[in-house]
Order: sequence, then structure tokens, then C-alpha cells
Amino acid sequence: MKKTKVRFAPSPTGPLHIGGARSALFNYLYAEHCGGEMVLRIEDTDLDRSHREYEEEIIESLQWLGLTWTEGVNAGGENGPYRQTERLDIYRQYVQQLIDQGHAYYCFCSQEELEAERQEQYAQGLTPRYGGRCTQLGAEEVNRRLAAGEPASIRFRVPHNTIFVVNDLVRDTVSFESENTGDFIIVKSDGIPVYNFAVVIDDHLMGVTHVIRAEEHLSNTPRQLAIYDALKLPRPEFAHISLILGDDHQKMSKRHGATSLVQYREKGYLPEALFNFLALLGWSPEGEKEIMTKEEIIQSFSLDRVSKSPAVFNIDKLNWMNQQYLKQLSAEDLMKLLLPYIQNGKYAEEWTKLSAESKLVLIEAIREHLVCLSDVEEQMEVFFQPLAYEPEAWEVLQQENTALVLQRIRNELPEFSEPQEIKLFIKTVIKDTKLKPKDVFMPLRSALSGKTHGPELPNLIYVWGRENTLARLEETLRKLSSQNI
Ligand code: GLU
Repeated sequence: MKKTKVRFAPSPTGPLHIGGARSALFNYLYAEHCGGEMVLRIEDTDLDRSHREYEEEIIESLQWLGLTWTEGVNAGGENGPYRQTERLDIYRQYVQQLIDQGHAYYCFCSQEELEAERQEQYAQGLTPRYGGRCTQLGAEEVNRRLAAGEPASIRFRVPHNTIFVVNDLVRDTVSFESENTGDFIIVKSDGIPVYNFAVVIDDHLMGVTHVIRAEEHLSNTPRQLAIYDALKLPRPEFAHISLILGDDHQKMSKRHGATSLVQYREKGYLPEALFNFLALLGWSPEGEKEIMTKEEIIQSFSLDRVSKSPAVFNIDKLNWMNQQYLKQLSAEDLMKLLLPYIQNGKYAEEWTKLSAESKLVLIEAIREHLVCLSDVEEQMEVFFQPLAYEPEAWEVLQQENTALVLQRIRNELPEFSEPQEIKLFIKTVIKDTKLKPKDVFMPLRSALSGKTHGPELPNLIYVWGRENTLARLEETLRKLSSQNI
């Protein structure tokens, strides 16, 4: 049996979209599951919209996500070049073969003529398709017009009364009647082949066995099948994966928030979390387990369990998943990942003044409050902002016993060298005063941070340091006695 080979074939006309990333991932998973290979091919035949920067950005995004490929731009391989604009000579031979065998012909119709034809068909309530003016031009006329330098495109002659059947691995059998497809252009008048043609030649020459791609390409497949058949090339297997919808069940677009992978990367989602999340977007493993390692996903991946119905992008689920992955990191690793956000943020200077121990305590203290890495700045606020009271905190401070508790802590707070010692000290205060823990913790938190929620108090106090903590307490006691915030 032929070795499984898949490909991801992005057009470098923008950053890698979530949908593209999911297609790449499914290809990767399928190849890895089968012990096969993956090709990365750049489909840059749209010269106006294709840019090298996007190609680079797409590759970087794929690498960041943890995907690898054995052949393609930046990986090399024996079936290159892997950029379509560098393969024009290769396509030319196949175009010539199609022309020689009568499967393709030169078309001299101008844009204006074609547009007029389309308008007429619309007016008659017909689906616009090529009317066939150049189908029967004689070789002599063609050669004369070409020699005169008349612009010409090349059209594929679609066979009549043929039904193209796609035995799709996800969507089962899908049939298309050839009568619905007019003769279509395969090479534009500037000599550049179009996607539907180049893709066939490339997939064939690159040895692709499985074409796994977005559902939006299903309607292109009959054209591609017609070319495979005309050139007598074996067809690969096809698997068209369904659309990704936003949570309002509309096609995912910018108004649903971030749509490109790089935006998620910048926000500080972990690649492992996105890998896991995207894998479950349209594929469901057996069992209930949702947090899965890369190896587990590869092991259980199959196209049988890829859903026909659209997948819904649920940001809450991604957030939850990212938190699960953040929880698994050691404080040191988490700190490394957070560092760029901290260093570019509001508290960069304050951060550098902390001891190595305080840095780790701070990271531990905020860890469970982070959804993604860029939340770090907001979570650091409480450590570095001057004291200001939220109304709820000021209310807590009005409770009976508050002054007593605060004064006692101010008078007795010991020197400390780890958060545990602070915790023990607060416990002693609770025991001695016979108050409920909450009646000590809440006033203390409110007095020190001006808030009723936040990181664990011993950690906060540790990072502030004894002096700063006492100063904050003093400040609150002073304001309380004058009742003036
Ligand atoms: N270049 C196409 C795209 O970016 C991919 C088509 C395919 O996978 O066949 O949508």
C-alpha cells in the first residue's frame, strides 16, 4: 500500500486563520496517526493578494502550534519547488497535453464580452457559465491570433452528461452533474494557472494520497476530478471538513473576535491548549476525556469521527482549556512565558525590583486567576497599585472588630522569610481573638489591598514585604479613624 501523504496548501493572502490552522492540524494528525507524511505547499497563484510576509507568518504560526512537515517550503524535498509560482514550467507540460488531446482550448473572449454574456444569462434567469464561443476555433485561427499577440486564456473542456462522484471520507458520497459546470479557465491570459488546475498537478506529482481540506472546497472538487480524469491520473482520497461557526452559529468572522492564530498567540494562549482545542473542533475522540496530550490525540485521531456538521467555536471552552494547561506548568516555566508580557507591561520596573523568591510567589499567587498570559498585567495590579478602596472593601472595614484586628496585626506582624510564616501568624491572630477566619481575613484583605477578592493574602503580604504591608495598614487605620477615603 502507498504511504499516506497529506498536504496543507495555504494561499499566502493573509495570516493563518483558525479554520486554516484546524485544516493543517487535521492533516498533521492524520499523517502522524498513519505513520505518513505531510507536505506544506504554498498556493500563491493569486499574484495580487499573495505576499511573502504572509507565507512566513503562516509557517511561523504552524510551527508555533507544534506541527511539523517533511516536505515543503523551508523543509525541502524531492518534489519541489513547493511554491506554485515556481512551478509554472511543470504546469505548462500538462496544459499542452490537455490541449493536444482536446481537453482544453484557447479562449480569446475579452473580460467585457464575458461580462456581457453573464449579464444576459442573469437576465434570463440562468446560472452564468461560459457560453462556448471559442470551443470550436480551428487550429489555424488559434495560431494566427496567438501569433498576433492576442491575449488568450486556456479553458478546460468539461465533458457533457457526466456525473462526478466524490467519495468523501467525511461527507460520504457527493455527486455533481457536469452540466452545471461551464468550461472553466485553467490558465489565465497572463500565463498563470488557476488553483483548480495547479492543485491537481501538484497533488499528483507530490504523491498526495489524502486531500483533507475545508468544506468550502467541496464545490471545486468536480472540476478537479474532471482534470484528473482527462489526464488519466489516479484520484486521491478526499475529506472535506465542515465550517467553523461562531457561538451565534454564523460563519466565524472578525466580529466574533480573534480569527487568526497569531492573535491567540499574542493574547497568550498556549500552543498546547490551542492544539487540543482545535483538534476537538469537529473531531470527537471516543470517551469523555477532553484534555489530551499531543500523543493521545494522534493515537486516537481518525477521519471516521470527524463530524459532518459545522463545529462551533466556543471561546469559554478555549479559555477553560488554556487554564488547565497553565495549571500544569511549574512556576518557573510559567514565569518564563509571562516574562515578555511583564517586561512590556506597566509594571516592568516594579517587577525587576522584586527578589527571585518574591517573583515566584507572585506568579504562584496569580496563576489561578490567569485565563491567558496577557492577563498578567491586570493580575499584577494589586501588588503595585497605590491603595484605593472599592466600595465593598470600605464597607467590610466598617465591621465591628476591624480596628482591633488591624491594630493587632500592625503591632505584631513578625519578620518573615516565606508566606507560610505569615499564614501561621494570621492563624494565631484568629485563635487568640476567637473571631471567625473570615472576620480576620476579609478586613485584613480590604485594609491592605482595598479589594475583597484577590490572590492569597500571605502571598500578597510576602511580595509587598513587611514594611510596605505595615505602611498600607497604617494608611487604612488613619483613613478609618477619620472616615475619609
Ligand atoms: N489554497 C487553498 C486555500 O488556501 C487550499 C486548497 C486546497 O487545500 O485544496 O484555501
